[in-house]
Amino acid sequence: MPGARRIVIENCAIATVDAEDTEHRRGHLVVADHLIESVGAGDAPGGLENVVRRVDASGHLATPGLVNTHHHFYQWITRGLATDHRLFDWLVALYPTWARIDEEMVGAAARGSLAMMARGGVTTAADHHYVYPRGAGDLSGAIVGAARELGVRLTLARGSMDRGTSLGGLPPDFAVETLDGALAATEETIAAHHDPSPGSMTRIAVAPCSPFSVSTELMRQGAELARGAGVRLHTHGSETAEEERFCEELFGMGPTDYFASTGWLGPDVWLAHCVHLGDRDIAAYARTGTGVAHCPSSNARLGAGIARVPDLLRAGVPVGLGVDGTASNESGELHTELRNALLINRLGAHREAALTARQALRLGTHGGARVLGRADHIGSLEPGKLADLVLWRLDTLAHSTIADPVAALVLGAPAPVSLSLVHGRAVVEDGRLTTADEATIARVARGEARRLARIAAGDPP
Ligand code: ZN
Repeated sequence: MPGARRIVIENCAIATVDAEDTEHRRGHLVVADHLIESVGAGDAPGGLENVVRRVDASGHLATPGLVNTHHHFYQWITRGLATDHRLFDWLVALYPTWARIDEEMVGAAARGSLAMMARGGVTTAADHHYVYPRGAGDLSGAIVGAARELGVRLTLARGSMDRGTSLGGLPPDFAVETLDGALAATEETIAAHHDPSPGSMTRIAVAPCSPFSVSTELMRQGAELARGAGVRLHTHGSETAEEERFCEELFGMGPTDYFASTGWLGPDVWLAHCVHLGDRDIAAYARTGTGVAHCPSSNARLGAGIARVPDLLRAGVPVGLGVDGTASNESGELHTELRNALLINRLGAHREAALTARQALRLGTHGGARVLGRADHIGSLEPGKLADLVLWRLDTLAHSTIADPVAALVLGAPAPVSLSLVHGRAVVEDGRLTTADEATIARVARGEARRLARIAAGDPP
């Protein structure tokens, strides 16, 4: 690439997460502008021009940037509530508070969520936002703006709910949109923000919230809208046994058949959780190429169960990792989900075929990229891909005696991030954000969390 500005990174271990799982004990990476130019063993090639930065990454492991496939950024300002509830009771406890959010709150919460993830090596994040109170302002714009500020690649899954309690749904009627209102607003969000280009920093998906908060018509028309616009489809699915019973009672079929009947299985669909799947469900996901966002900490926090990830992988289902909203996973980190995915799966019924450390890393990188439909451009360290990569520091007390760098990253304590690049741009240096001030984000988010709590309690704001 003539004229490109180059960053040369040397002396690190590298886990490329390419198709062959190529690793180097001591290797190099060359970044040219926003792309990876070369990756390999030993030193970088000589004679490179226009090198603006050289990084001696001794003691580090380089991996692709982590990809978070399921989150609810707004929940950053409702953490630590209903801590002992299970999903349906937890939702019912929180909906009335969530229904009071506004643009300022959502912006502050999105910055908090993104900052926390970016500090922990996330370079691409999906936000499933489905609470749009009337008169709350431009919530989607606030989320897109926050990701742009922080420099993190975003898929905003424009969610919606239109099945309030009067229609047999779980959310209160005052927290839902109308069918037509939700569809029109989703269409507007796509028109305003969706960038389909390979290097895109912002993509939009169509994302009605869940079978128990969305009408069948919104599921159907949402799928048509997404396919007409060429964007992906996202929703929650098969999270709990209660949800299965709800679907049987209301629709006369289980969640997977319901998704199939409404156009919600396919290679352009990814579903969050998918904990309660039988063999027939897994076969349907595999046959249709439907992706899964596995959220082990949230599933544990809400007592939902253990997803059959090894069985899904064996069947060829695309699987990525998700933090899920921080009201059900207060840590808000994705790198710790690598460890939790591995550990929790070893406690499941399929422990003989449990995940390996390398499979866990793949879930958090290439698997997530596949689930978001972006594996051609992110998710592995290969020449020609976008320069989204992380240098994890592994030579300190926490990790220096762990023999295998991938095991150190997955099984060890959360590793500090010395450098994180998104699109070739440093967003984290020595564990600190370069694009925003962490202390300000924390202070503003705390203020907004208090304001929301006061409004939800009926006190003057
Ligand atoms: Zn969720």
